[in-house]
Amino acid sequence: MSTKNKNRRCSFCGIPSERVSALFQLHGEYICPHCLEEQKNVLKSALDSIEVIQAQLPSKNKKPAGKSRTDPEQDILDEILFADPDEDVNDTSPVKEVPTPKEIHDFLNYYVVGQERTKRVISVAVHNHYKRLFGSNKNIDLKEFEDVEVEKSNILLVGPTGSGKTLIARTLAKMLDVPFSISDATTLTEAGYVGEDVENVLLNLIQAADMDVEQAQMGIIFIDEIDKIGRRVDNVSITRDVSGEGVQQALLKIFEGTVAHVPPTGGRKHPHQEYLEIDTKDILFICGGAFVGLDSIMQRRAANKHFGFAGGTETLVQEKEILRPEPEDLIQFGLIPEFVGRLPVVSVLSTLTEEDLVHILTKPRNCLTLQYRKLFAMEGIDLRFKDDAISAMAVEALKRKTGARGLRTIMEELMIDVMYEAASEKGDQKKRKLTLTGDLVRSHFEDSQKQTPLLSQIGM
Ligand code: ADP
Repeated sequence: MSTKNKNRRCSFCGIPSERVSALFQLHGEYICPHCLEEQKNVLKSALDSIEVIQAQLPSKNKKPAGKSRTDPEQDILDEILFADPDEDVNDTSPVKEVPTPKEIHDFLNYYVVGQERTKRVISVAVHNHYKRLFGSNKNIDLKEFEDVEVEKSNILLVGPTGSGKTLIARTLAKMLDVPFSISDATTLTEAGYVGEDVENVLLNLIQAADMDVEQAQMGIIFIDEIDKIGRRVDNVSITRDVSGEGVQQALLKIFEGTVAHVPPTGGRKHPHQEYLEIDTKDILFICGGAFVGLDSIMQRRAANKHFGFAGGTETLVQEKEILRPEPEDLIQFGLIPEFVGRLPVVSVLSTLTEEDLVHILTKPRNCLTLQYRKLFAMEGIDLRFKDDAISAMAVEALKRKTGARGLRTIMEELMIDVMYEAASEKGDQKKRKLTLTGDLVRSHFEDSQKQTPLLSQIGM
């Protein structure tokens, strides 16, 4: 639209509206007829980014039907000429759709059992990450905050092995339309030692973005096993950074935001090598670790501060109660203070209960029992699980202290013989039924050497 509002100026040459015949408006920016003419070429080269905006334009701003969509220059001019006169100058409509925390949370719920607090924390953090990058999708006047830059809040997930840290990260990757990668901190070493440079974490993200560095700069990186780079006196390796501190320092730089140089083929850096340059200031980092021993550090701190004492009776930190580690606990564990400072959002995942494990076995979309029923159905066997069989498997997983990670191993161990025999049979088989009961599961794990009674159940 053209406009003659007083205080408005051409965004390109600055000429005030009263000195030109018209100012054209495009998404809150103004352009005078003279600059419009001059900027045609510039606009052409800016086409790529404008096309992204076009894709998001509300339908009322779309150009008239019947116009050719193959002339990019005309497209841009159309956007200017057919813009809605009532368009709000402060329209902050996002270039990308910002998923709400609830949408992210609901999606996580399909796959991740329990861990409610962490799902909430992650949903809000990822939503805010989008907002930082693409603005709010609510029509709100943010002029007052024009100069305020919202800094990112990297996240630390603390939780026992098999509690869902990586699963949460992987599930996020499924739903997000920003690049997402997962790296393992144990492979990283300080420059000069045997192992990968920390820049490889960034390379993983660039690869996830199909080598598009600009896209990668908006991505999210999950770094697993972050607790393994804690400063440890008992770490005696001679080929790795022995303190872990060097790796923390190197990671710190990319957490803080730096222009990093990444070797495009990975591995170690070499002189005279070409590098990809990537600015990390907008990349969101989520770190995960089991932090074995952190709970005793927290318990000691809690005891020192006389937390948890009720009327003189010691009800000190309950074993199942989830405490949030304080920065000092993480520092005592071996993280350097600056590193802790760069992970301001800390969320604790709880040990999964028997009930959670039963749920994991039976409820999620792709749950283990369904996977095995399908595998057996392919052999003509109708596999069924009695409720007490599911509970017995959950109890066995609890004994192994590997969280939900142990469930697949348990299922494998139970089924291996039957699967071996059933899958080795050739030709069409008559339909058979195999029902797993609690007794069968328990007896298998009491004496795993003996021939599984499951075989006789289906006549093998
Ligand atoms: P970690 O906390 O060690 O990163 P993972 O997320 O890798 O654990 O979990 C290992 C496997 O256990 C997952 O692939 C998933 O199948 C299962 N699992 C773990 N936690 C959960 C959970 N909360 N809900 C559903 N499945 C889970």
